[in-house]
Amino acid sequence: MGLKRFIVNLAPSPLVKLFASPYVAGDSIQAAVDTAQKFWEERRICSTIDLLGEELESEEEVQYTVGVYERLIAALGRQEHATLSLKPTQLGSHCGTEYCQEIIGRIVAKAAEQEIKVTLDMEDHDYTDMTLDIFRALIKDHPTFGTVLQSRLFRTDGDIKSLKGLNARIRICIGIYNEPKEIALQSKPEMKKKMLQQIEVLFKEGHYPEIATHDEAVINEALNIAERLNMKKDQYEVQMLMGVPKQACQDKLIRNNILVRLYVPFAEKWKFAIAYCKRRLAANPAMAAYIFKNILHKTAGKK
Ligand SMILES: Cc1cc2nc3c(=O)[nH]c(=O)nc-3n(C[C@H](O)[C@H](O)[C@H](O)COP(=O)(O)OP(=O)(O)OC[C@H]3O[C@@H](n4cnc5c(N)ncnc54)[C@H](O)[C@@H]3O)c2cc1C
Repeated sequence: MGLKRFIVNLAPSPLVKLFASPYVAGDSIQAAVDTAQKFWEERRICSTIDLLGEELESEEEVQYTVGVYERLIAALGRQEHATLSLKPTQLGSHCGTEYCQEIIGRIVAKAAEQEIKVTLDMEDHDYTDMTLDIFRALIKDHPTFGTVLQSRLFRTDGDIKSLKGLNARIRICIGIYNEPKEIALQSKPEMKKKMLQQIEVLFKEGHYPEIATHDEAVINEALNIAERLNMKKDQYEVQMLMGVPKQACQDKLIRNNILVRLYVPFAEKWKFAIAYCKRRLAANPAMAAYIFKNILHKTAGKK
């Protein structure tokens, strides 16, 4: 575990909640819907809304998650600015691929009634096969169903080949999960170089790449690739996480007629949000030192 992650893991939940608030829309469906609506009305930014939660292992929690997504779909209704993102480990992966596929299929079908697109997020390497199997099965009936590939994994070039002909929405990112050196690149510059190569392949294979990064050099190079390949501006989009301070870059892309979509997570129950918030804080360059100072301060104050 890196030092930043170690420090963030030491932080007590209330501190995590406080510092992570810019990365989370709020604690209700309405807060998520309102946030997406505001991004759209004020800045013409699209959203993908995600109910926070992962590694759920009880039937009760899985059914609760399905219920929240169903209420979210009803609250969103037909609109053009918001999609949904969801994770296998919050939707029954612990009971196997067949069960998880059935649960996710229910949500995707419900969303399709309102023409809402759904993306299946990618978690750590233990779930890559399951995620892609579910994706391949459900895209047959739902052509706008999308998924995610992580450029850090050695297997990803092969996975792109295996998606040939699907003309799918593919979010391509470096991947947030620390993966062992036997199966994944370890250096960020190498992951980003690979990501750019894979964006080019995704274009050439007829997919709709969703370029998910906050690295402006990577975004610029991806746009150069799109231009070189004569891609139209409606054949790809750029995605970022809400809370990462990249407003000027996003507004510039929008002025240039490129679709920008923000990941808008929310949680009704705070315990489901902790893991996501810790990952975001660990990725924030200033945050680990800040949290560390805060913990020291509190510890000194208690003595
Ligand atoms: C919309 C979206 C969806 C994603 N979905 C998945 C997924 O399904 N599976 C998965 O494994 N990964 C996912 N990710 C995470 C992704 O894989 C990367 O881990 C993450 O985007 C950081 O990589 P980067 O390319 O932005 O580069 P970085 O080098 O990490 O970031 C570039 C710059 O952005 C700034 N920055 C980045 N993060 C923060 C932060 N938290 N706070 C403040 N500044 C920051 C810093 O200035 C940094 O220098 C997703 C990312 C996005 C944007």
